Amino acid sequence: MLKLNDKEIQEFICNETSYFALNIIDLSTREVIFANKAMKKIMVDINAKKCWQSIYGQSDICSWCKADELVNIADDKTDDKPIHEFEHFNEYANRWFKVQKKVTNLEDGRKVLISILVDITTQKESQGKLISTQVKLTQQAQKLKEAQIELKRLASIDSMTNLYNRRYFLDTSKMLFELAKRNGEDISVIMLDIDRFKAINDTYGHKIGDEVIISLSKKLIDYTRKSDVVCRFGGEEFVILLPNTDIDGATVISNKIRDRIENLIVDISEEKHLKFTVSIGVSKVDLKIDKDVESAVNRADKALYEAKNSGRNRVVVDA
Ligand code: GH3
Ligand code: MG
Ligand code: MG
Repeated sequence: MLKLNDKEIQEFICNETSYFALNIIDLSTREVIFANKAMKKIMVDINAKKCWQSIYGQSDICSWCKADELVNIADDKTDDKPIHEFEHFNEYANRWFKVQKKVTNLEDGRKVLISILVDITTQKESQGKLISTQVKLTQQAQKLKEAQIELKRLASIDSMTNLYNRRYFLDTSKMLFELAKRNGEDISVIMLDIDRFKAINDTYGHKIGDEVIISLSKKLIDYTRKSDVVCRFGGEEFVILLPNTDIDGATVISNKIRDRIENLIVDISEEKHLKFTVSIGVSKVDLKIDKDVESAVNRADKALYEAKNSGRNRVVVDA
């Protein structure tokens, strides 16, 4: 085996390499008996007596010191002395090191602790940057997910009234139709249209017309159940899908809505008040015949047409 007494090799290890720092501590005196050039650069005081003073500038033994532990283990297994390995932040040098330590006996009998330190600050910094990039990416992905959910919500909502739109109705009705079929539950449909709305627009203006649509929308939410799907189908026309409701139940709700709207007073200003009425067509989904909710919507539409033709402000039930 080669003995490392070659001058050039010694010179390289002691004075030339900057890749690792090396120190040897006499365990009986705790003095640094050897430090290479790279080690000296990170030592607080190369002339100090004790290793904790010279290496770390501590006034007493370092709290993280494992020397005694290593001596004990080394004494147990004389042939195979373990290498203790850890990462350490040196506050004095303000750098991270990967450290390997080993207890061994010199030829003159002194028990020493050899330490090799490799500067890993750059790796640690890149690791930190990578983690913060990952955190930022996760945050951005979360924001994107939230934006997608909001976009989906906006695509389902009529912005003027905050009611569901026709598109949402068509999607949801498919799902509710299948659910009702599976559970053998009734579904009913209400179609509602403001009477002579054109006259409201013509008399009070479009803005007041909008306010009428908005106040009716709020009332429709108030008068129905949370499980009912209230939609603005377009203009001054609304469709309400009532899951788990038979035609009699839907008729009762329709009459209640018609009656309450007839008695509703919309305040235009302090002096001016407006009243309006609605016509309603009601139908039920026939789970045996209908292939979708749309067939029932068409029947409710026909009933609504009848309500309009027979004088408005009334409820017509599809027979
Ligand atoms: P009917 O009793 O037969 O339903 O008569 P109507 O006047 O209510 O029905 P028509 O279909 O003749 O007119 C509906 C009007 O609603 C025409 C349209 O300009 C108006 N309208 C549609 N959407 C809006 C809206 O968002 N805001 C306002 N202010 N008016 C609207
Ligand atoms: Mg109308
Ligand atoms: Mg209409």
